[in-house]
Amino acid sequence: MACKIDIKEAFDTLRWDFLLKVLRVAGYVDNFVTVALAFAQHCHRFPKVLWGSWIWENYIPIKRSLICWRLLHNRVPTFDHLRRQGFIASSYCCFCFSAEETVDHIFWQCSGIKPIWREFLQWFNFQDFSYDIHSFLVAACNRDTSSQVRTFWKIGIITLIRVIWTLRNACIFKDKVFYAKHLLQIVCVAFKEAAPPPVIINVYWWPPVSHWIKVNTDGSPLGSPGKIVAGGVFIDKFGWVRGCFHYNGGTGFAFETELLAIIMAIPIAHSRGWFDLWVESDSTYIVDLLHTRSTLVPWRFIASWNKILVLLQDFNIQISHIYREGNVPADIMASENMTEGWWPHKVEEIKKAVRLDMATNSHVRLKVK
Ligand SMILES: [Zn+2]
Repeated sequence: MACKIDIKEAFDTLRWDFLLKVLRVAGYVDNFVTVALAFAQHCHRFPKVLWGSWIWENYIPIKRSLICWRLLHNRVPTFDHLRRQGFIASSYCCFCFSAEETVDHIFWQCSGIKPIWREFLQWFNFQDFSYDIHSFLVAACNRDTSSQVRTFWKIGIITLIRVIWTLRNACIFKDKVFYAKHLLQIVCVAFKEAAPPPVIINVYWWPPVSHWIKVNTDGSPLGSPGKIVAGGVFIDKFGWVRGCFHYNGGTGFAFETELLAIIMAIPIAHSRGWFDLWVESDSTYIVDLLHTRSTLVPWRFIASWNKILVLLQDFNIQISHIYREGNVPADIMASENMTEGWWPHKVEEIKKAVRLDMATNSHVRLKVK
């Protein structure tokens, strides 16, 4: 039997025991893992699981994903697992020699391994260690991160699990000595081998021309949902900051902060007679909303947004998108530590950021393939 396997599309099933029996009866004992994947791909009777597509990626070697896959199925042959199957073997963890070797211990709880996880996870601002290894992996699949971070998050976790297992086998079967300080270095090297090279994009901010005024807006959600704050900066063709604002908008989601920023910016421009206005945001939602004059906004913003749509009729308006790396002055105004209100000319930090932008200082954006 020949099967074409698309690992990315292969979904997983919780009926591993059943699959194994079928494959053994069919004579596919040697390559049962490969064939099981093929089987799983073509079998649509069982429910999909989220991590089924999360652990398989083209840029991650299959052997790394495989140990994760076995771990999620509780099919890693740790000593406690072997003992349940009737094998007699030493049951101590080879890293700390102070606890029984279980899946949860060796991959997560072990005092030799835990500091490595802590160091790795703090890179991603993840500090909750109340999980066991299974629930951590499920939480890792569900974690909402930017697309730039997501790839490194996934590669890092899968690589770390693979490296822990490889080291464990080296300690037991090749009498190697485990040094925790070397583990992270090994992970970094393995990480480098797996990670796709990022594409570097130079992001530039451009000033308005002639008598036009440009407003850059931004919003910062402090949670999802969480406290929402919005900011914006008005700049003329010489790079003079005509004014900037910061407002708190209660509780909401990320896209609502961006909406709030526009709802604040347009009346300010209108009241000051800046009718030739270039609006720039790092939110594609806002750019589309302004281009289409759509009324598809959350209900609590509908009244405010309708007023904005009326005001926009008085403007000669240009709308553009900029990556957030190039939206620095507005990003500063949307930071949590700003004081609410409208400030003409005042903020030195903003002026400094605008001067750098006016000098066509480029910002670097790393885009993962
Ligand atoms: Zn241990």
